[in-house]
Amino acid sequence: MLFQGKKGKLSQLSHEILMRAEEGVVVIDGAHAIVMFNKGAQHIFGYSEEEAVGARLDLLLPERFQMQHDVMIDEYGQSGPDTRLMGQRSRPIYGRRKDGEEFILSAQIMRLGGPSDRFYAAVFRDVSQNKKAEEELLRLASTDPLTGAYNRREFGQLAEREALRANRYNHALSLLMLDIDHFKKLNDTYGHSAGDKVLQRVTTLCVNTLRNVDVFGRWGGEEFVALLPETDVEGAAIIGERLRKLISESVLTYNDQKINFSVSVGVVQYKDGETRLDGALSRADSAVYDAKKAGRNQIAVFRG
Ligand code: GH3
Ligand code: MG
Ligand code: MG
Repeated sequence: MLFQGKKGKLSQLSHEILMRAEEGVVVIDGAHAIVMFNKGAQHIFGYSEEEAVGARLDLLLPERFQMQHDVMIDEYGQSGPDTRLMGQRSRPIYGRRKDGEEFILSAQIMRLGGPSDRFYAAVFRDVSQNKKAEEELLRLASTDPLTGAYNRREFGQLAEREALRANRYNHALSLLMLDIDHFKKLNDTYGHSAGDKVLQRVTTLCVNTLRNVDVFGRWGGEEFVALLPETDVEGAAIIGERLRKLISESVLTYNDQKINFSVSVGVVQYKDGETRLDGALSRADSAVYDAKKAGRNQIAVFRG
């Protein structure tokens, strides 16, 4: 209302607001040449207005995305909503700064003009820092701070997913449970922080030995679990024995003391159709108990 009759002035102010906004604003024409490149965009990408205007949009994209991006824009020109949000829920979109660094951005894309005078605008911000913070939060929520292994909750979720997959494809799935022997005594003898170092060493030995597809977690105190996809009980016993041997041969030097430690390992295979972790876990636990009873530093296979 205020500006009624002052359309020219308003349009001039709008242009100035867009040019000065902290959000990046880039407008391209139907041939994908940059026609507007505001302060925010200059700041985010590191190009001056003179460098960017007239150049093709490719200037701002990692090379591997350039072709598909061209196709995407042209398709968008033919159909789809006039405005859409990108990089928020679906896969991230990447930009490339003048110095070559790639970053993740979140953008609102607009189709402007008609078929004969097509323009596209993107209003965007650099969300790399948010993404990093988000990933860090996810990592913190899913791992155990002492060892970096998956925590109980995350392991439980991953195990359920693996079991559903194994079931669907009729693949074998096995579980190891490793319990450190006489760990209480180790703590009492060498101190709690020596015990912590042993927990970290056991984790490193296991993670380095297991395959990428295996899932390793800290189930609690001095108990670890490993899920072995596409592995039957015989295969799992071989891996359990390999881990047991490696751990029993490992020596931790702590305050000039040489510390030996060992684990008892329970080995189980999931039953046909079994998707819940708790059943397999309690059988693994009972196998660990057998291994302890038989003298520790050994594996026991649950055969039910
Ligand atoms: P067993 O051979 O029968 O397994 O005996 P154990 O002493 O290992 O078993 P127990 O369950 O009696 O003791 C486990 C010990 O693990 C007790 C607890 O203080 C210790 N523990 C649990 N979490 C941690 C931890 O994060 N750091 C350290 N250093 N010790 C821990
Ligand atoms: Mg225990
Ligand atoms: Mg123990």
